[in-house]
Amino acid sequence: MPTHTNGGPGALNSIGVGLKRKVEADLAACIGCHECLQACPVAGPELRIADLNAATVGIIPPSDVIRRFVWECFQCGRCVPACPVGLERDAMVLWQKSNLYPRPKAYADQLRLMGGGGGVARRAEQSLLNLQARPRLKGLAQHVDKRTLRAADTLFFFGCNIFSETGTAAKVLALADYLGCNYEVLGGMRSCCGWPHLLSGDLARSEELMDHLFGRIQAAAPREVVTIGAECYTALKRLVAVKGEAFMPVTTASWIRRNLHRFPIKQVADPLTFHDACHISRKLDEGEEARRILRQFGYLIEMPQSGGNGVCCGYHQFEVNPAQVVHLRKKRLAMARQTGAGTMVVECVRCLEAFAPLADEAGVRVVDLVDLVHDAVKDDSRMKPQPVHFTSPITQGRKGPIPAEGA
Ligand code: SF4
Ligand code: SF4
Repeated sequence: MPTHTNGGPGALNSIGVGLKRKVEADLAACIGCHECLQACPVAGPELRIADLNAATVGIIPPSDVIRRFVWECFQCGRCVPACPVGLERDAMVLWQKSNLYPRPKAYADQLRLMGGGGGVARRAEQSLLNLQARPRLKGLAQHVDKRTLRAADTLFFFGCNIFSETGTAAKVLALADYLGCNYEVLGGMRSCCGWPHLLSGDLARSEELMDHLFGRIQAAAPREVVTIGAECYTALKRLVAVKGEAFMPVTTASWIRRNLHRFPIKQVADPLTFHDACHISRKLDEGEEARRILRQFGYLIEMPQSGGNGVCCGYHQFEVNPAQVVHLRKKRLAMARQTGAGTMVVECVRCLEAFAPLADEAGVRVVDLVDLVHDAVKDDSRMKPQPVHFTSPITQGRKGPIPAEGA
C-alpha cells in the first residue's frame, strides 16, 4: 500500500497509521459485492469494485474514473450501512484521497485560509479577511482570532463558521445572552478544527490543527464546547476520545434541547421536515436531539430518506463537480417539498449554506434549528433572561451530565 500522506512521501501521522490499518483489514474482508457503490450518490456504473480495491492498495494505478470518484466523494458515509459485512468504504476512499496527487485546485482553494500557522503570506491574507469581515460581523468581530480566552463554563466554538453569512453564530450568542449564560467564544480561521482537511485527505494538517485547537480550548477550561457545524462537532468528539474527556462536545441541538424549557416556543403553522447532517445522524446516531425540538415547534414529517439513510448536502466535495452537487441538492429539496412541509430544517451551518441558495427555486424554506428558536426569542416580550453560572469541571473535578441552565 502507498505509505505517504499530505503532499508527498513521508511518515504517516497517528491518523494515517490508524486509517491504514483499518483500510488494510477492510480490503482483506471485502467480498466485492458492489453494494457500497450502489448506495453511493457519486459513483457511476463505469466504476468497478475490483479496480477500485486494487487501486486502493496500489496494485494498479488509479484510472481517470477512479480519480474522479475519489475527489468527488464527499465522505457522507452512505456506503457504510450498505455493506453486508460491515466494512467502511468511506475510510477506504479517504485513504485514497490522502495518497492521490495532484490535489484538485477546488480543494486547495477551499482550505487555503483555514487553520493557523503557515507563512507570512497566509497570515497576511487571514488578517485582511478579518479586517474586511469586521463591519459585517458586528459584535462577533471581537472574537475573531483573539489571543486570550477567559475561563468559562460554556465555550462556543465557531472556528471558520464564525464567518458564515447565515448569521448562525450571532444568533446562537443571542440565545446564550437571553439565557444569561457564562460563556466564552472561540472563532476565526486560525482556530479551524481541521476536520475539512481530514475529509479532503490532508491527514497531517488535520492532526496539527486538532492539536492546536485542543490547546486553545484548554485555555478556557470549559465544561462544554458547543458547535454550530457537524464537522467541528466530530473533530471535538475525536479530540476527547484521543486526549481524554477534558470537556464535553455539544451540538447546538443538544444545547438548545437542554435549555428548551427556558425558551419561548413559537409554533410554525406549516409542517416541518428535517434534513439530517451525515456526521451527526448517520455517523454518530444523534439525529433525535434535533427532532425532539422540532416536535415542539410544529408537526414534523420525515422525508423518505432520513436519519441513517439520509442524503448528504455534498458540502465537502468542495465543488469539484458543481453540477453534480447542485443536482443532488435540488433532489433533496424536491424530497422535502414532496412531504408537504413548507420548511426544511437543518442542524449544521454547512448544510444551511449548501441548501439556502436553491431554496426559493425549490419552493421550500430552509432554516437552521437555531433560526426557529431565535425567531421565537426575538419576538418574545414576556420572558426575561435568568443569569445562571455553574463552575468549571476542570477546576472542580465535577463529572456527569450537564444540568439545564438554572436547573
Ligand atoms: S462516503 Fe459517500 S460519496 Fe464517498 S464513497 Fe461513500 S457514499 Fe460515496
Ligand atoms: S459493500 Fe462492503 S463487501 Fe461489498 S464491495 Fe463494498 S466494501 Fe466490499
